[in-house]
Amino acid sequence: MALSSILDRFNEPETLKMAKLCRQLRSEGVDVIDLSLGEPDFDTPDHIKDAAIKAIHDNYSHYTPVAGFMELKEAVCNKLKRDNNLDYKPENIVVSTGAKQSIANLVLAIVDKGDEVIIPTPYWVTYSEVVKIAEGTVKLVETTIESGYKITPEQLEAAITEKTKLFMFSSPCNPSGAVYSKEELAALAEVFKKHPQVYIMSDEIYEYINFVGKNQSIAQFNEIKDQVVIVNGLSKGFAMTGWRLGYIAASAEVAKACEKLQGQFTSGTNSIAQRAAIIALNSSLDASMEMVKEFRRRKERVMEFIAKMKGVKCIEPEGAFYIFPDISYFFGKSDGETTIQNSADLSMYLINKANVSTVMGDAFGAPEGLRISFANSMENIEKGYSRIAEALAKLQPQP
Ligand code: PLP
Repeated sequence: MALSSILDRFNEPETLKMAKLCRQLRSEGVDVIDLSLGEPDFDTPDHIKDAAIKAIHDNYSHYTPVAGFMELKEAVCNKLKRDNNLDYKPENIVVSTGAKQSIANLVLAIVDKGDEVIIPTPYWVTYSEVVKIAEGTVKLVETTIESGYKITPEQLEAAITEKTKLFMFSSPCNPSGAVYSKEELAALAEVFKKHPQVYIMSDEIYEYINFVGKNQSIAQFNEIKDQVVIVNGLSKGFAMTGWRLGYIAASAEVAKACEKLQGQFTSGTNSIAQRAAIIALNSSLDASMEMVKEFRRRKERVMEFIAKMKGVKCIEPEGAFYIFPDISYFFGKSDGETTIQNSADLSMYLINKANVSTVMGDAFGAPEGLRISFANSMENIEKGYSRIAEALAKLQPQP
């Protein structure tokens, strides 16, 4: 019996494949250090957990409105005012089962067969695959380590055609850690202003995990605000990945379209997670900022390791919790047993020989990169990065 051709159009996320491999090796008794992780290793703060427990006792056990409880949509609007000085109304907000669903809703709501979607590399694994599901055409724009892995206005202008429907990016960026400044966003906004048919997906899920200052949103530029769809969620900033709570802020028209799609796929997000999210968004961010302090400490330690690794070119991340070094120096090198031809080989070499998991750059559209997380304890970072350093030092030119 044949399955749908949709399945042939896209790939499984490499990040999830790696997580599966780690679990399997662990079950076989291998001491794996997981640096492929894409989630905070912290527990959800107590006041948020308490709100969820209260919601269960208060019998929030029924279906919710598709786009989310009104109090939650108001809490999102208040958050956008408090943190980003942006004005949105509840009609602009759709709450979903994780930002991943928000992105899927959005792409399916906007992209038709043959529409072009511009994505600067490196980018988060899901963007390109969801566009393929929608039968859109992915147009990757390569950024370089020299430009800090950020697209320039000139590159953007050159990539836009009559068929361009959507531009997708994250800042802070997963995987590169790049953070766009207000000036850089203003320069991109000038280009978008000339192309009002282009929507801009601004994925701000790592907003709080920013080491260089307050995060800036491209939605702050009024002339293009209706083109922008902000994607955000509670997974990273509040250590709530398993709760599955994401949202968009968009024009009422786009929000309505996303709500229509969601109404047929999942309906409203889990009621308990929504009640807890109201408290998370309306409370002080102290617990989140404590986590960020610890991420900063780890990032600094990781950069000390990187500075001593011969052949590894890496920019210091300005946000999120990954480094994304260019590891092409190791292509063609061997430890006498294994020869490294590409990033996938290096990732497999590190898991087999050093028992450390990472994610190959191809998954993010950047085949010369390798994503290594620092969302793990300091003890595991010390162990994991030492093992990586040792394994890389064994790779030598072939005779
Ligand atoms: N956007 C980016 C850039 C991410 O890294 C992730 C998760 O890894 C998501 C969105 C999805 O987050 P959620 O857990 O809310 O689905």
